[in-house]
Amino acid sequence: TYIVTDNCIACKYTDCVEVCPVDCFYEGENMLVIHPDECIDCGVCEPECPADAIRPDTEPDMEKWVEFNRKYSEDW
Ligand code: SF4
Repeated sequence: TYIVTDNCIACKYTDCVEVCPVDCFYEGENMLVIHPDECIDCGVCEPECPADAIRPDTEPDMEKWVEFNRKYSEDW
């Protein structure tokens, strides 16, 4: 799964939301988040992000961001 990290804070671009084939982006308090269970891991959004905020969860120390993305995408 892919997740959004803190580089997204205050970013005003929504290119990622527009390209996502399964609409799994949600709005958090001050940044976007990806629902980690809805993401199909296609990777299309990652190069679209001008802030380099979208990362695969296979990178080190991503657990806290997976939980953060889950929390804010399930508040809806
Ligand atoms: Fe959507 Fe694909 Fe990005 Fe997952 S990796 S959030 S499915 S565009």
